[in-house]
Amino acid sequence: MTAKNCLACERPIKGRTDKKFCDDSCRNNYNNRLYSYSIPVVRNINNILRKNRRILEDMLSGLEKKVRVVERKKLVEKGFQFEYFTQYFTTKENDPYYYCYEYGYKSIDTEKVLVVKDTRKKHFPGERRYPVAKGSD
Ligand SMILES: [Zn+2]
Repeated sequence: MTAKNCLACERPIKGRTDKKFCDDSCRNNYNNRLYSYSIPVVRNINNILRKNRRILEDMLSGLEKKVRVVERKKLVEKGFQFEYFTQYFTTKENDPYYYCYEYGYKSIDTEKVLVVKDTRKKHFPGERRYPVAKGSD
């Protein structure tokens, strides 16, 4: 029988043979390493996207209806980078929208954009969908 090693610190694990880690702190270290990207370009782009999302969120904060006309200049001043987005789609009317997660915008003209929060779609790529229980509504 071979002793199993901890996935985080690689020391042999004592105790139950089905354990993957020494303890919770090793489990946390492992998960942090796995999910926080250590590749600089990935981390940088993730940061840009998160910042873009936060800027759009700020533009709509306090508004009941999550729609607002904003000057491009204002977004740029906040550090918004138009070339980074998570999703692009066009409506039936051929209006192109650019999204950073659940917040997005579309061009109105060369100076203004319409900032929106996506309340239409319930799910985003990668999100888990759970089956709806029959007869529960
Ligand atoms: Zn360990």
